[in-house]
Amino acid sequence: MTEKHYGGTSSQDYKEKDFSVKSKSFKKKEKTINKSSDLDDSEEISKEDLEILKKVGSITAETVKYAKSFIKSEMPLLEIAEKIEAKIQELGAKPAFPVNLSINEIAAHSTPSFNSTDKAHGLLKVYLGCHISGLAADTAFSLDLENSEKNKKLIEAAESALNSALKIIKSSVSLGEIGKEIESTITSFGFQPIHNLSGHSISPWNLHSGITVPNYNTEQLQLLTPGLYAIEPFATSGEGAVRDGKLSGIYHLEKPGNVRDSFARQVLEFIEEEYQTLPFASRWIHKKFGSRGLLALRQIESAGLLHHYPQLIERSGKKVSQAEHTVIITRGKAIITTL
Ligand code: MN
Repeated sequence: MTEKHYGGTSSQDYKEKDFSVKSKSFKKKEKTINKSSDLDDSEEISKEDLEILKKVGSITAETVKYAKSFIKSEMPLLEIAEKIEAKIQELGAKPAFPVNLSINEIAAHSTPSFNSTDKAHGLLKVYLGCHISGLAADTAFSLDLENSEKNKKLIEAAESALNSALKIIKSSVSLGEIGKEIESTITSFGFQPIHNLSGHSISPWNLHSGITVPNYNTEQLQLLTPGLYAIEPFATSGEGAVRDGKLSGIYHLEKPGNVRDSFARQVLEFIEEEYQTLPFASRWIHKKFGSRGLLALRQIESAGLLHHYPQLIERSGKKVSQAEHTVIITRGKAIITTL
């Protein structure tokens, strides 16, 4: 999921609160007296976690290849989402969030409902993530489904910005420099980056773990530190900001609590166990529990336990493209996991 800024300086929109989830930080690599082993991998992420992150990244990459092979104009979005989510599970991971299929001026956070009849068209962003035991990878690509030169140029702008950012990214580069690289690439195509959407650090069970990677020159001097990051430029022919649109049917558990109804409690327990604090879709609840599940979800939402994501819409109503990869930053190198 992408990170939106609601003004102010806080970069952490989705703080997890009092959950006793399985793990909240990467296992630190143990310090050994054997100096040579410290040269290869991150000092922040254990070898064991590193292997899982690489595996989940390659599952994500394979899923993208699969998605690109079958998505066509006029295909139902529901069919696209379900095929992609099934593929992720077939490859041995789970979706880290519902597949986002966002069209034209919708920048992100749109997923089909269980009874959606919407069809793929226009400039389609396919945004997906996978996880194994909470260790995640995010990726996104854009497709032009109406043979438009302008769409193609917008897509090229986002992809080039991502590639330029990945070329300079390493542990000693500043956040402002990464943003500058993204912004100057996108503006060289005659477009604007979306200023209030950004990349983000990722930790176990948390897709937004506190560090924001900007898509424009914020002049921040803060250096990128070792860890896991999603880099995700958005390009638009519009003014370059998003506003909240209608609610998306994508939720995450925001705080612990209870509901009176015993069936709703059963649904809540399933959410806690299965998704923890990761985003999930009302469509998934419908699949598991039927229409009763959707009623239960409404009760859980009214009890104030859920965050319901709005769709993110380009403010001037113009088209948006997106590209994204996940990268492990160590002291010595950058490993793109989703290539
Ligand atoms: Mn992301």
